[in-house]
Formats: sequence, C-alpha cells, structure tokens
Amino acid sequence: MGRNEENRGFTCANCGCEVLPLTNGSYRNHCPFCLWSKHVDCKPGDHANTCDGMMEPIGFQRSKKKDQLVYRCRRCGMEKVNRIAENTMQPDNFDVLLDLVKQQNLM
Ligand SMILES: [Zn+2]
Ligand SMILES: [Zn+2]
Repeated sequence: MGRNEENRGFTCANCGCEVLPLTNGSYRNHCPFCLWSKHVDCKPGDHANTCDGMMEPIGFQRSKKKDQLVYRCRRCGMEKVNRIAENTMQPDNFDVLLDLVKQQNLM
C-alpha cells in the first residue's frame, strides 16, 4: 500500500473528534485534541498490530531534539513513543501537552 493510502484521517476513539491527516509529511498516529492514541501499529503507519487497545499519553520527553509523547497501552501495557504533531494542520493541543508535562513533574 502506498504512503498516501495509509495517511488517512480518523475519528478519535477517546474524544470522538474528527482528526485530519497530517500535512507535514508524517503519519498521524494520535489525536491532536486529547493526545490519545490507539495500539494499531508495529511500525509507524503499518496498522499491523492486532492489539487495538487505547494508548494513554503518560509523559513527554525530548530526545535528539525531537519532542515525543510517551504512551502506555491500556490493554497490553506496552509503552511506546510518538512524535508530537507540529507544523501541520491540526497541531497537537498545547494546553493538553502542558498539563501532561505538569502532571509528570508532580510525580
Ligand atoms: Zn481525541
Ligand atoms: Zn496494546
């Protein structure tokens, strides 16, 4: 399957918002409004994972100058990181991002 076919929008299973595909050349792998994701990929965009659990954003980290969200799957417990969405239509909600950073600093 081509990259364009895989770079689709979706409806967020957590907040129900209509999410549009990224316009910065990457894959949209989480909701820009509530930042939740879904455990569907083994590699970014491949939808090869059958877990299908909801992935909760649990933290924020900066590695190699990239801002990343840390996720934990509610179903299988796997942790993974996703790059935040910026320089695109519907960038990640900064307020939600900030709350996450604050929460993390309190722990
Ligand atoms: Zn959402
Ligand atoms: Zn999972």
